[in-house]
Amino acid sequence: MAAIRVLTRQLADQIAAGEVVERPSSVVKELIENSLDSHASLVEVETEQGGVKFIKVRDDGDGIEKEDLLLALSRHATSKISGLSDLDNIKTLGFRGEALASIASVSHLTLTSNAGSGQAWQIVGGQRECDQALFPVAHPSGTMIEVRELFYNTPARRKFLKRELTECKHIDNSIKKLALSRFDVSFTVTHNRRIRFKLRIASSHEDKERRIADLCGIPFIQDSLYVDNDRGGMRLWGWISLPTLSRSQPDLQYFFVNGRSVRDKVVSHAVRQAYKDVIYSGRNSAFVLYLEISSADVDVNVHPSKSEVRFRESRAIHGFICQTLQQALADFRPVNKSVTS
Ligand code: ADP
Ligand code: MG
Repeated sequence: MAAIRVLTRQLADQIAAGEVVERPSSVVKELIENSLDSHASLVEVETEQGGVKFIKVRDDGDGIEKEDLLLALSRHATSKISGLSDLDNIKTLGFRGEALASIASVSHLTLTSNAGSGQAWQIVGGQRECDQALFPVAHPSGTMIEVRELFYNTPARRKFLKRELTECKHIDNSIKKLALSRFDVSFTVTHNRRIRFKLRIASSHEDKERRIADLCGIPFIQDSLYVDNDRGGMRLWGWISLPTLSRSQPDLQYFFVNGRSVRDKVVSHAVRQAYKDVIYSGRNSAFVLYLEISSADVDVNVHPSKSEVRFRESRAIHGFICQTLQQALADFRPVNKSVTS
């Protein structure tokens, strides 16, 4: 057997990238999450050729101080946690400190940031650490990350990429989830220089419904119920489809736990059970739901892409979701019912 040796930083980052950066949409997701964590109120996304050729995410957030720019690109470097106990109380989307290092190891990445001091600095990633240098550039407060030629140095990954249209759909899906999670942030998204989404900050209930219509279609918002319920420190709110709007695919199901989009078996089961008697089996409900619980009651450190969580009291969560939806569906009476009965 060959001798044991320590992996180079580049190789270790590329291995981590295998988990974090599955396709262009994963890059878009990680970069937007960073923007949201930096208190941005505006996020601009530009992609070209399904994100394989070019991805740019720009925000007006806190920015990164000049002396932190090098660190931002290193693995296990994060400003979001500092000790094990912080893992029980995570309020940010990121915390693992590996996204930028991973992305930089499989692409040509440029990071430009202005932390409000008036001067912006730029660093080009992907080179050997000792060659990395900072350049003064002009850029307003906030951060801009440009990613070119994704997977140029990992041909196996590149081969698995699908047609431009498919990658573009994945990017749209990632953006939809993030845009649904933060009504207080505006999003402008272009692909091949064409506008795909232009979403203004949504403050009122009507503004929020307009954003949902833009992202999930007008039929969903027209044929859905608004729910809002709390119990024992938990709150569940959002929009759920009327039984008349069942779908053949589970493709309009968005669930957020403390602002993070997650896929979870307990949640899907609870929703399915709530709809059991009102839609045919094999059909799917549609929903955009937000669960707010104490961050101590949910473990978000389950998966590198952070799309799964573990609930401490999954039985209580299941019951709360199921009963809230069942009640809302039972309370609903079609407007013209008195006419027909
Ligand atoms: P994580 O998000 O898990 O901390 P990342 O590799 O995604 O790890 O980012 C590393 C660090 O770089 C972050 O902790 C943050 O301090 C900084 N950073 C990255 N993107 C931005 C951004 N858009 N605005 C401000 N700071 C950022
Ligand atoms: Mg991050």
